[in-house]
Amino acid sequence: MLYLDNSATTQILPEVRTAMLPYLMEEFGNPSSKYYLAAENAKKAVNEARMSIASLLGCADKEIIFTSGSTESNNMIIKGIADYYSDQGNHIITTKVEHPSVLETCKFLETKGFDVTYLDVDSFGRIDLKELSASISDSTILVSIIWGNNELGSLNNMKEISDLCLERKIFLHTDATQVISKVAIDLTEFPGINFLSCSAHKFHGPKGIGAAFIRKDRYDILAKITPLMHGGGQEEGYRSGTLAVHNIVGMGKASEISHINLSNNIKKLCVLEEHIATLLNDKFKDMLIFNHDNEHKIPGILSVQFKGINNEILVKKLSPFIAASTGSACSSSKPSHVLDAIGLSIEQVRNTIRFSLSPTIEKEDLNIFNEL
Ligand code: PMP
Repeated sequence: MLYLDNSATTQILPEVRTAMLPYLMEEFGNPSSKYYLAAENAKKAVNEARMSIASLLGCADKEIIFTSGSTESNNMIIKGIADYYSDQGNHIITTKVEHPSVLETCKFLETKGFDVTYLDVDSFGRIDLKELSASISDSTILVSIIWGNNELGSLNNMKEISDLCLERKIFLHTDATQVISKVAIDLTEFPGINFLSCSAHKFHGPKGIGAAFIRKDRYDILAKITPLMHGGGQEEGYRSGTLAVHNIVGMGKASEISHINLSNNIKKLCVLEEHIATLLNDKFKDMLIFNHDNEHKIPGILSVQFKGINNEILVKKLSPFIAASTGSACSSSKPSHVLDAIGLSIEQVRNTIRFSLSPTIEKEDLNIFNEL
């Protein structure tokens, strides 16, 4: 079976597993404990992992706060800003094509009196900068915009968005879950991005671990937000709770490997994507419509309509040979709000399946499409 659902999750790399194992066994210390070796070793491992993640993102290690993943990072950042800055305004701007962990958080905040603008997107799921600019008002406290879409792969122009938010002095958060390890990111080039969310399991790390990037100011102080988790004050008080050292080490290793292989992986994903598109075109010809753009996208995500074929039935039929999905794994029971927002009819949405690739796949593996 060929696994083509890498936007839902990825397999842990063998090197990641090897790096994690000691921290599940003999190196079980709590990094917040003091003086004895097991605690010091755990602390050292956490610090090294933090540095690997920071170097993948192009930020300082102190700007990385460990969380359980992007769902938590998105909740923590958006609710944390809403609460901390509520005396400065009650307006939040986001888009119609965010992951549910952003959309549902915003809907929750609406019930608490916040006013949320959900920006429209173009036919590939990107926002319009002028619309964003026009939506900003005196009461806007946060702009939260997905960097790369999990269903279509389309990339927003984060440079423009970052520059605009910097100029207008509005906090900018981006959900970068799908772009990490597939797009080169250097946060020093995006000074307007104050917050970012990511999850390790999307780039061959373990599940249940992720990070929130929180930018520090020129006095070296991280932007203030109300924490989601109150407790022992770990992670500078931003996220209490004993650190999951084994998972953090796994995320660090996955980041280190991603960083080393980044440009080769991007090239490989582009080759694989082109090959799969050719195979599909050869085999299914006029039955196909590609929903995604071929430019400015995350390499390796294909959103494909098979005209007249129900996606649930197709994904089930393919399942002995190929693992694919009807869209995002998090909302697979509902028709995709992303495809709806780009203007597809309900029938077109019901005909769409997503193939998402990984650089661990070889070109020959894709020949399975010829055998269908
Ligand atoms: N944002 C995006 C864009 C995602 O694709 C996902 C995972 N599907 C998440 C957030 C949530 O990540 P996690 O489930 O690891 O918390």
